[in-house]
Amino acid sequence: MIDTHAHIRQGDEQKIEGLECVILSASNLSDSAENIRLAETNEKLLPAIGIHPQDIPEDVDGTLVNLEELLKEHKEIVAVGECGLDFSREYDLNTQVRVFKGQIELSQKYNKPLIIHSRKAMDETIAILASYQNLRGVIHCYSGGKKRINKILNMNGDWYFGIDGNLTYEPGLQEVLMGIPKDRLVLETDSPELTPVPFRGETNFPEYVKYVYEMVSKLWGLSIEDTENQIDKNAWQLFKLR
Ligand SMILES: [Zn+2]
Repeated sequence: MIDTHAHIRQGDEQKIEGLECVILSASNLSDSAENIRLAETNEKLLPAIGIHPQDIPEDVDGTLVNLEELLKEHKEIVAVGECGLDFSREYDLNTQVRVFKGQIELSQKYNKPLIIHSRKAMDETIAILASYQNLRGVIHCYSGGKKRINKILNMNGDWYFGIDGNLTYEPGLQEVLMGIPKDRLVLETDSPELTPVPFRGETNFPEYVKYVYEMVSKLWGLSIEDTENQIDKNAWQLFKLR
């Protein structure tokens, strides 16, 4: 089992019981550096670096340069993100697009997959991603509904859908899951948010991704072993873990 999207801090890293690895998503430059540091303490933790669209710094160009320096220096970085568009709160479209495109270009230059964050902005996100060739990545915490699944799969490149703990209690998302091809699904916790049943309402930890695997196995009608084999294979391919 792999948690392909978590935010954890020093001290939480023991909560990864039973997992093969955990991908640490970043929202800003200090997160990015912290993920690299954490990964040095535990080989199961794999760092991503990136700037969240609602966490944009004053100095955009300088920050993109800093991200590039990290990519040059740290071959262990497995992905760029989370990055994308987020219209759920106040935002400046031009700046979000500039920061997003800067990170897309870094992902291409350093051949890393993208972890895409898209909130209330799925069509705009797809339009930007579709304007590039040969990208690969995951639409993290996918919220685009059944109708956009094919649109995303038809984009040039190699795309996956990340599904979280809300699968355990949202019937609408369970229906969306059934529309995602089995070889395009990866699972995540987005810890410390989106805690699955039976711990809904409490703090989330990477090891709770097992409840998301269990729900998928139920929905697919497959054994937990077959479910795990398929989903882990997807994560290995996306993040080049094996
Ligand atoms: Zn996240």
